[in-house]
Amino acid sequence: MPPRIDTPTTTTEARSVTLLEHTMKLPENAAFATRCIHAGQVPDPTTGAIMTPIYQTSTYVQDGPGVHKGYVYARGHNPTRDAVQRNLAALEGATHGVCFSSGCAAESAIAMCLEAGDHVVCSDDVYGGTFRLFDKIFRRFGLTFTYVDMTKPAAVRDAITDKTKLMWVETPTNPMLKLIDIRAMADIANEFVGQGIAVVVDNTFATPYLQQPLSLGADMVLHSTTKYLGGHSDVIGGAVLTSSDDWHKRLAFVQNAAGGVPAPMDSFLLLRSTKTLHVRMQRHVENAITIANLLANHPSVEKVYYPGLESHPQHELMKRQMRGPGAMISFVVKGGLDKARRLLKATKLFACAESLGGVESLIEHPAIMTHASIPKEQREALGIDDGLIRVSVGIEDIDDLCNDLRAALDA
Ligand SMILES: *Cc1c(COP(=O)(O)O)cnc(C)c1O
Repeated sequence: MPPRIDTPTTTTEARSVTLLEHTMKLPENAAFATRCIHAGQVPDPTTGAIMTPIYQTSTYVQDGPGVHKGYVYARGHNPTRDAVQRNLAALEGATHGVCFSSGCAAESAIAMCLEAGDHVVCSDDVYGGTFRLFDKIFRRFGLTFTYVDMTKPAAVRDAITDKTKLMWVETPTNPMLKLIDIRAMADIANEFVGQGIAVVVDNTFATPYLQQPLSLGADMVLHSTTKYLGGHSDVIGGAVLTSSDDWHKRLAFVQNAAGGVPAPMDSFLLLRSTKTLHVRMQRHVENAITIANLLANHPSVEKVYYPGLESHPQHELMKRQMRGPGAMISFVVKGGLDKARRLLKATKLFACAESLGGVESLIEHPAIMTHASIPKEQREALGIDDGLIRVSVGIEDIDDLCNDLRAALDA
């Protein structure tokens, strides 16, 4: 039995009525772009304000003890947060959304739903912070993890034990842009009937515009909303979207009990950002395809990793599983570390910074920056060598981006 949310049942009832109203406002077959802009929101009932207000409050006045409007204390519920949770759920085709103060807090919430002794099968190429969280924190609390190359389904099946409760998938991976077949992973989890292995997909790199894991059989989708969903490099956040009532209950309990909630202002920024997600992603992808071709044809570039290139070993899987190849590109420059350092100093528009998914283009060196905490041998085994560079292609004018990168490569 999952733990119950420790707020009065009136709260839950009031909230599900509101959710129903919101759902009914949108035509059931509303397309993605329409859902981006409208899902989960109605004009403010008090003033008619078209934008959901920032409910910057910690508590709510009650008409008498226990008599309230469904809102009691803001760790438990906040209307701005509720709106963005409904919006993100609608984008992933989920019935429930639970938001957190960061992507890592969202990951922690999923892990906190497990019990000591439970086992997780995890992709060997996950985001470094995910590996650190599992290895340095949750392992101490008795969870066990096996890291496998999820491009090999047989290896995944072999890693499953009778204690396995979760399969943790991240696709495309970072920074090697490998793809994992989500449907194949869900099929393997389903072979172990009765064991209830939940499949989680970290969909941060693809966004629901390009990839919808729930429709491919996943049970939960996780986002660092810091990246494309926020999209403007000005907010840290995380979310879990699911259509499982059971997982929703457990996650909502942890959200309130452990308290890693997003602030009202951050919820508002995210809600505002998703309104343009479809337009931004379209331009991100268009620009990235052009940049990937430029790199693939440049004499100073040894190799390009981008699922949109026909040379990518999983190009066919990309076409089957995604609506487009995304806007993250990794490549190896000839001349190793020295050339890589010079390139990162030479670009003017591409800013040398960690993170990704904002409107501005970024360039970084995984071995020195984002992936420095991974031991050198393991880095090299994954393909992260000293000449490897990762770019997050923004939505600036494509000619300006090409000129900047070309000039820096030629320098
Ligand atoms: C950034 C990132 C995270 C962690 O999210 P934060 O918001 O930084 O806590 C998790 N997964 C992926 C793929 C990421 O890129």
